[in-house]
Amino acid sequence: MEVPRTAMVVTPHPDDAEISCGGTVTNWIRQGASVYYVLCSDGSKGTDDPEMTPERLAKIRYREQLEAAKTLGVKEVVALGYPDGELEDTREFRGHLVRALRRFRPEVVICPDPYRRSFYFHRDHRIVGQVTQDAVFPYARDRLHFPEHEAEGLVPHKTGTLMFWGPEEIETYVDITESMDLKAEALKCHRSQLGGLSEDENVGWLRRWCAEMGKKAGFEYAEGYRVVRFRT
Ligand SMILES: [Zn+2]
Repeated sequence: MEVPRTAMVVTPHPDDAEISCGGTVTNWIRQGASVYYVLCSDGSKGTDDPEMTPERLAKIRYREQLEAAKTLGVKEVVALGYPDGELEDTREFRGHLVRALRRFRPEVVICPDPYRRSFYFHRDHRIVGQVTQDAVFPYARDRLHFPEHEAEGLVPHKTGTLMFWGPEEIETYVDITESMDLKAEALKCHRSQLGGLSEDENVGWLRRWCAEMGKKAGFEYAEGYRVVRFRT
């Protein structure tokens, strides 16, 4: 896997990016890449604490996400602020992603895989994957889509590679052995999401999962993707 100069991660909820691609992001940043996050929802449903309110949780999770992104060296987090669980495939949402693509001009975009048949996943992840793919191709590429961006000084952008995390069948493994510790540190920033686990148990789960993927590729730790390439 080549190292991009610029990459953009589209994450449904705070913590998904660290869990799914934090090691890949760390590898690239260490090799000089600029990485940007677009955080789509506010994560305001992610609790079983009876005292918690969505408003308070959204603030906590935004802070946690900024801290995690800073830990990895992410340059900027654009928070779209949609309510957790309520993402829809709309022109407005697609437009936000197209604007971010035209602004950051990434060579590589990472997002959740929207296509699965054999196991469940979160509706927000499905929608983020789908809307991101559409935003990359063809909406960000064609100037007559979202022509209002021209007035902001933004021009069309072609992304070369789309990497989907969480595919049913992994096609590309990224060796994250050197980045596993920092990925784990970034996960620790999401303190509201421990769900009754201790910090060590939580990180332990992440390490075991990445080691499991690593085993299939001959690495100590790995992250796995389905990769789609576009003509640029
Ligand atoms: Zn999520």
